[in-house]
Amino acid sequence: MTERRGKPYPDSKLYKLDCHVCGEKAKFQWNACADGNVWRPLCAKHDVLINKAVLQVLYPKDWEVKLKEYCEDIEFNYEEVSNGKRSRTKRA
Ligand SMILES: [Zn+2]
Repeated sequence: MTERRGKPYPDSKLYKLDCHVCGEKAKFQWNACADGNVWRPLCAKHDVLINKAVLQVLYPKDWEVKLKEYCEDIEFNYEEVSNGKRSRTKRA
């Protein structure tokens, strides 16, 4: 597996890599302190899922508005990560 610490991949290299999670073509990259700050190439769907998790922590009340705006910006179908739209319903 490719590992890169420090600087992120340049776009020219990133776009030749596969998503760390699913193997689709990478379009984005992330690193996390708890993952050794290694840059991980990601497809659009997995980039959006990470953004979703982060926004849910940072903005517990209005994460969904921000996530929808982001999906529009990158031309990604929000429905693919929306889990059936019941995000405000508490489960017993
Ligand atoms: Zn993926």
